[in-house]
Amino acid sequence: MASEPIKTGGKVEPLRKTRPCPECGKPSAREHYPFCSDRCRTLDLSRWLNGSYAIPVAEDETKAGGGDERE
Ligand SMILES: [Zn+2]
Repeated sequence: MASEPIKTGGKVEPLRKTRPCPECGKPSAREHYPFCSDRCRTLDLSRWLNGSYAIPVAEDETKAGGGDERE
């Protein structure tokens, strides 16, 4: 029984380059790209919702006239 190891060229390369997950740095999963998991995607989303990435809101209170009604 001469079972030789099959030589396929040596390197096994992934089909696509995987980016590290922006949340935890692990290799991203195709299903959750560019994140590694649904959890990290949710984390990132919640971060957005929490306002960490919030865009400064322009002060348009001065523009909104008619809202300054006093008794
Ligand atoms: Zn992750």
